[in-house]
Amino acid sequence: MAFDIDMIKKVYAQMAERVDKAREITGKPLTLSEKILYSHLWDGNPDKAFQRGKDYVDFAPDRIACQDATAQMALLQFMQAGKKTVAVPTTVHCDHLIQAKQGAAPDLKRANETSNEVFDFLESVSNKYGIGFWRPGAGIIHQVVLENYAFPGGMMIGTDSHTVNAGGLGMVAIGVGGADAVDVMAGMPWELKFPKLIGVKLTGELNGWTASKDVILKVAGILTVKGGTGAIVEYFGPGAKNLSCTGKGTICNMGAEIGATTSTFGYDDAMERFLRATDRAEIADEANKIREYLTGDDEVYANPEKYFDQVIEIDLTALRPHLNGPFTPDLATPVGQLGEKAKKNEWPLKVDWGLIGSCTNSSYEDLTRAASIAQQAIDKKLKPKSDFGINPGSEQIRFTAERDGLLDVFENLGATIFTNACGPCIGQWDRSDRKGDEKNTIVHSFNRNFSKRADGNPNTHAFVGSPEMVAAIAISGRLDFDPMNDTLLNEDGQEVKLDEPRGLELPPKGFEVEDNGYLAPKEDGSSVEVKVAKDSERLQLLEPFLPIKDSELQGVKLLIKAFGKCTTDHISMAGPWLRYRGHLDNIANNTLIGAVNAFNKQTNFVKNQFTGEYGGVPDVQREYKAKGVKTIVVGDHNYGEGSSREHAAMQPRHLGVAAVLVKSFARIHETNLKKQGMLALTFANEADYDLIQEDDTFNFVDISEFAPNKPLTVEIVHKDGSKDTIKVNHTYNDAQIKWYREGSALNLIKKQNA
Ligand code: SF4
Repeated sequence: MAFDIDMIKKVYAQMAERVDKAREITGKPLTLSEKILYSHLWDGNPDKAFQRGKDYVDFAPDRIACQDATAQMALLQFMQAGKKTVAVPTTVHCDHLIQAKQGAAPDLKRANETSNEVFDFLESVSNKYGIGFWRPGAGIIHQVVLENYAFPGGMMIGTDSHTVNAGGLGMVAIGVGGADAVDVMAGMPWELKFPKLIGVKLTGELNGWTASKDVILKVAGILTVKGGTGAIVEYFGPGAKNLSCTGKGTICNMGAEIGATTSTFGYDDAMERFLRATDRAEIADEANKIREYLTGDDEVYANPEKYFDQVIEIDLTALRPHLNGPFTPDLATPVGQLGEKAKKNEWPLKVDWGLIGSCTNSSYEDLTRAASIAQQAIDKKLKPKSDFGINPGSEQIRFTAERDGLLDVFENLGATIFTNACGPCIGQWDRSDRKGDEKNTIVHSFNRNFSKRADGNPNTHAFVGSPEMVAAIAISGRLDFDPMNDTLLNEDGQEVKLDEPRGLELPPKGFEVEDNGYLAPKEDGSSVEVKVAKDSERLQLLEPFLPIKDSELQGVKLLIKAFGKCTTDHISMAGPWLRYRGHLDNIANNTLIGAVNAFNKQTNFVKNQFTGEYGGVPDVQREYKAKGVKTIVVGDHNYGEGSSREHAAMQPRHLGVAAVLVKSFARIHETNLKKQGMLALTFANEADYDLIQEDDTFNFVDISEFAPNKPLTVEIVHKDGSKDTIKVNHTYNDAQIKWYREGSALNLIKKQNA
């Protein structure tokens, strides 16, 4: 389980030299983000200054983490690379496949029965290739990483968007698709466009009901879900030092919700305290030796406008608690103003559930603050009006919270303690008060609140808040409750008010755990057999994708013109489909079923141009595939935002979609499409989106000249024979064009290994 101190010492040993060199080459003081990026260059010492938002750069990450849903496909791909062990320390975490229903013990038992073949596969493949394995129930990937593996100044990638959580411990930690993780596992560099930098200066100090969560809820309101795209958000200033390490983790975690590449904080005393409390004094000692390299230069933070591409300032003292939602995490409303807004928009005011925990908010500080509210409800004879569910982030935090009586407090209030796993946060929730499609409201301390995310119901209005605010709202049962000003009627008919939450940054008696759920891999795994049954519904060994021939890009049919938001959840839904994450052909049956067809505003209902009939997207696409006709998907802005799952690229690819043409892409999804050997294109003129009609055919007239920095020309042939010729942009560099020409990045790796 142990973190790799030798690896960390090596990173620190070269950091000073590389950072000094980078400062010299760029001729300026450096942000923390730049220090970490420049000290993790694949080629070693920096020899040129990179242009932010322009240059593609090869990096050498220190670690990889994978969760069970994405690890299946990543490891199936890694098995194809012909390697004996992974090239960098890697861990697999079983957290996404456990459905929340009755409570931790029965839910875990059921998951171990229903998903045992997946867990067995992951355990065996981890054992074979030198990968650390965290069993189901051990915890949620990002909490486990924060408690065990994250370290200041490090760089990691993970096959989950919320890998960014590790920025709370001063890392540059980035969510990637499985295909990127496979590259690094196979000993290849990891490529990233050198990010832009957004500085967030924090002043003042949190107080009263305001929590770290409110910092990111506020930032999301300012930057929106697109505002962080292509950028690292670096937090600094006196306010940053006043935040706990886990609070910083929460802020970085939800950086994914503003589309940021990642977020990070400079090393400080709070991080040191967290490292020592989690048995990593050795790392703290090493970090202390190079402290000045693990934070931005003073001059940068003194004149941030000069060194960041954008600067935001937030006064923590004046910050108010927020609830963000529904349906998007950037719709920020200060608590107290939500009632009016809800009434205007006809959002149900009655709150049915309050959910606390997830990778975002299950620290000791979070649980103690929320428990302090729950305890008041008991003391003040307030019967909660909503149901309560708790998802601890790790067995270590659960065990410690149980020891310290925190879980008792929630249970005394009638809460269900779910498994240390994602559960309702990823649609793995069998709600006891199932609502069908009925309009209803829930509040949670998770990160995402897209339609259907928690329970599959498009009419569940989910609002995101801090754990303590979720506790207060759930007790009141009303969305318009403002605990800072409002009173509640208790069982004796008295009006009572909730006092401000109180919490502890770290457990006074230290963290404790009996069995953390970790399995170390064999030293030599060559004799280990990887378990995949031939007739499995859930796992399927992969076949390489064939390159798309230029000739196949003439006469391309429109599969769907997606209208509005099209996240990776819309392209490859989670919930019940999670069970097929390791079986490409089976999971392909959910391809784009959540996307709204621009021509009829319906989901999963598109025209088959050959028959004129309408059908489900995967069915129509399979008919095109059977005819050997390639197709194109057209989309709106920020297409593919959300999770990092490469399934959203592999499935269309498997079914025969050749190109995705949109107004703009979410970064990870764009890269995933490239990795799978597809065309990821953007309209040169956004208004051309309106030219696309339902029966259109596309000819990629100059695809044979596909080259970096050169737009492609696409001829659109409409049903009446009329034509439009448009320019489409792309961001492929030379290496990525090779992926396309070989059929996929993995095909190229295999070729190079051979
Ligand atoms: Fe799990 Fe939710 Fe965290 Fe994703 S965001 S890792 S689904 S708890």
